[in-house]
Amino acid sequence: MKCIVCGGREAVADGLCEECLRERVAPFRVDPHMDITVCPHCGAVRERRAWLPVDDLMAHLESFVRRHVEVSCTLDKLEIEVTLGREERRVFPVTVVATGMYRGVRITSELHSTLRLKSEACPTCSRYFGNYFEAILQLRAEGSFREGELEDIKREVYDLAARIREGNRKFFITKDGEMHGGWDFYLSDKHEAKKIARYLGEKYGADVGESPQIGGRRDGQDVYRVTYSVRLPPYREGDFVRFRDGIYMVMRTGGKWVKLINAVDGRTCQVKRTDFGREMKLLATREDVESAVVVSYTDREVQVLDPRTYETVTIRRPPGFSGEEEIRVVRIEDELYGVPK
Ligand SMILES: [Zn+2]
Ligand SMILES: [Zn+2]
Repeated sequence: MKCIVCGGREAVADGLCEECLRERVAPFRVDPHMDITVCPHCGAVRERRAWLPVDDLMAHLESFVRRHVEVSCTLDKLEIEVTLGREERRVFPVTVVATGMYRGVRITSELHSTLRLKSEACPTCSRYFGNYFEAILQLRAEGSFREGELEDIKREVYDLAARIREGNRKFFITKDGEMHGGWDFYLSDKHEAKKIARYLGEKYGADVGESPQIGGRRDGQDVYRVTYSVRLPPYREGDFVRFRDGIYMVMRTGGKWVKLINAVDGRTCQVKRTDFGREMKLLATREDVESAVVVSYTDREVQVLDPRTYETVTIRRPPGFSGEEEIRVVRIEDELYGVPK
């Protein structure tokens, strides 16, 4: 028998096909957004009015979602599978695959939602910690952050903080927020804050400043607060710069030395970060790199189609080129250069 609604597919129950049945029965439902409040200090989770201690947050979030799937009373033999996607700014994409039996027919639905984590100190922690902080970690960039960069570094700080907390339960981020185009973290422990600042400075080749100040009293003692500023330089790995009459691509920036490759002859060299910062001039960023079709090449030259004008232009054969059909190029002062590999 055909389905009485669509008339196309075979009926499986109530004269309906599985698809029309799913629409009629509305077996499963989830809200498009779900909110859950987590204490940033101890990880406790608020459920209605109570705060529950939670060991495994991810497992708890999954069970939270499972409990918020609404199921039609006509179903039995339920199976509900919850998958949380990658967290992005405290928001998890949620996929629910739910299966149940309706009069002997198996119905499966896939539902989507988002789970938003809200931070709020639980009563115990807010009494204990208040707004206590010993250090401010400032993330800044000379010039500006590149697209998505600040988000990446922030995530790194959250991850580092979570790892530190595993060994030091008294460490936490009191608050954080946007400041002067960068981001400020208020941290409960200045020694841990210093470690984070140093780590970021080393990784990104950034300047790390340290300025102590007395900031109020706690338990009758002066509290010394320290501000650590991590300032990213104006160049990034993959950018092109003029340095001492040469054109170079920045290869590596971590630590005290900057490693460069000459965009013309492919020679590499390294220079002290402080000297480089003083003398270099930024010519093009890694975001300016384009792809160009190779027309022909010799030992010394490559003919490419200019990606903007589609005219054939001859450029120097870049270091590392080995006859590919496409080549990455960058425009510097109206001239194309091949990007060294
Ligand atoms: Zn149908
Ligand atoms: Zn708490």
